Amino acid sequence: MTPGLMQPVPLQTSAILRYAATAHPRREIVSRQIDAPLWRYDYAALERRAARVANLLATLGVSPGERVSSLGWNTHRHLELFYGVSGAGVVLHTANPRLFDEQVAYTINHAESAVLFFEKNLAALVERIAPRLTTVKTFIVLSDEVPHEAGALDVLSYERLIAAESDGFDWPSFDENAGAFLCYTSGTTGDPKGVLYSHRAIVLHAMGAGLNSAFGFTAFDVVMPCPSLYHATAWGLPFVAPLCGAKLVLPGDKMDGASLHELIEGEGVTFTGGVPTIWTMYLAYLEQTGQATRTLKRVMIGGSAVPRAMAETFKRKYGVDVLQIWGMTETCPLGVIASPTPALAERGEEAMQEVIWTRQGRLQFGVELRTVDDDGADTPRDGETPGALKVRGPWTVQRYYRQPADAVDAEGWFDTGDIATLDADGFMRITDRAKDVIKSGGEWISSIDLENVAVGCPGVKIAAVIGVPHPKWEERPLLVIEPHQGEVVSAAAVLDYLAPRIAKWWMPEEVVFAEVPLTATGKIDKKALRQVVTQASGKTPG
Ligand code: ADP
Repeated sequence: MTPGLMQPVPLQTSAILRYAATAHPRREIVSRQIDAPLWRYDYAALERRAARVANLLATLGVSPGERVSSLGWNTHRHLELFYGVSGAGVVLHTANPRLFDEQVAYTINHAESAVLFFEKNLAALVERIAPRLTTVKTFIVLSDEVPHEAGALDVLSYERLIAAESDGFDWPSFDENAGAFLCYTSGTTGDPKGVLYSHRAIVLHAMGAGLNSAFGFTAFDVVMPCPSLYHATAWGLPFVAPLCGAKLVLPGDKMDGASLHELIEGEGVTFTGGVPTIWTMYLAYLEQTGQATRTLKRVMIGGSAVPRAMAETFKRKYGVDVLQIWGMTETCPLGVIASPTPALAERGEEAMQEVIWTRQGRLQFGVELRTVDDDGADTPRDGETPGALKVRGPWTVQRYYRQPADAVDAEGWFDTGDIATLDADGFMRITDRAKDVIKSGGEWISSIDLENVAVGCPGVKIAAVIGVPHPKWEERPLLVIEPHQGEVVSAAAVLDYLAPRIAKWWMPEEVVFAEVPLTATGKIDKKALRQVVTQASGKTPG
């Protein structure tokens, strides 16, 4: 091979920041704050404040390669951590405040973070978990004040700290494969698993997502990320928007219909995105108030299947195109996106919309897909034969953080746990989920964990959990109980038993009593169980 002779400049997040600050310095960033008016500044000012963060880390003695954690909403200060921390070569672990306390503490300890940044309305959570944090030495509230709720904790103020730092920083150049962001994903059971995004993956993902066949932003776009910054870095939007010079609107922690509409109309948002639950609430708000959106052109929806009616309402009633995406924390998260093609357009508008509205998306550059049968052989790309969905590419996980073995097979394929079909046009459709989890409003509920608790209820022989569709939360858990012979167990008794033992939002939607079918190896046969439940309750399990 002849070595190429172009510059081996590493792909780093600081390059995105420097580009936006230089090429689009006055392009605005607007952010909701917690209990304060909207914050406004621009990319040039973002770089200056990110520089202060980078200098602060040095002052605190945090070295490149080390980790710090954040418990933050979609706010400008959290965005400053995105660039200030990663730009300095430190890894930002974006902890998920919606996990159980033990899991939040677990992830911060597992990351071995030295510093914890948190929003002021998460002070009570921080105070609760603080005694369990084994490595955090410094607590910094993302505010200009120290909240009283922090009680015994010695909490420093972000604004006061960064005010003491210089707003100039020489962004260092380092290996593009260095870790930048650490995101934990809750799996089927057990502890959350860390996915450590490299700088290279983040930059390539942002460039891929910026393509016209994907999000395709221009400098005229106004982009509002509703996926949380702690959920796979808000699907990369905080990188794609500055890369394209788009205005960025951050909705804070307010995702209700009225708050989103106020920002969309007030700031001229052209592109937004998030999980279906948020758009169910938004469409209900528009319907109830008889309003429409003047500026919104496209909304990207993913994390769970987009109901066809949702896509149709957006398009037909409000003239807004829905882009369905499928992805995972393990894929940064963009995997596929339902974008039109000339071949589809030739079939006519109706036929094209039908495909766009009912498929998770289409192949994108940077993510290879295959579906395989039980023997590992490729299933035909006929749009009909389902198989286990596997992915591979430069922004797909190789190995979970601090795990001894790779998460991929010998050829680099990562098994997504989803079951899907692929067709000759490159469209992918999720048909089922092999992993035993339920996704409620964008957050995971482990059916296995829930079953393990429920089976402890007196009189219960087998407890089995499946997901059922829900109009607001997309999916909710349904609990099937088979009591011991001769025992009488009531639904109320089971729910009373669960209440003190699980998080409120894990509470099953319904309890059904039935004989639970088992596989030949004695495991709960979820496929057969879904049929049993359909017969018992007339519901269609998800
Ligand atoms: P994210 O934070 O992006 O939701 P997760 O890793 O928590 O990522 O979840 C990924 C899983 O969510 C996928 O494996 C799939 O089961 C589900 N998912 C994501 N997007 C879609 C979609 N458009 N349709 C159906 N399921 C989806």
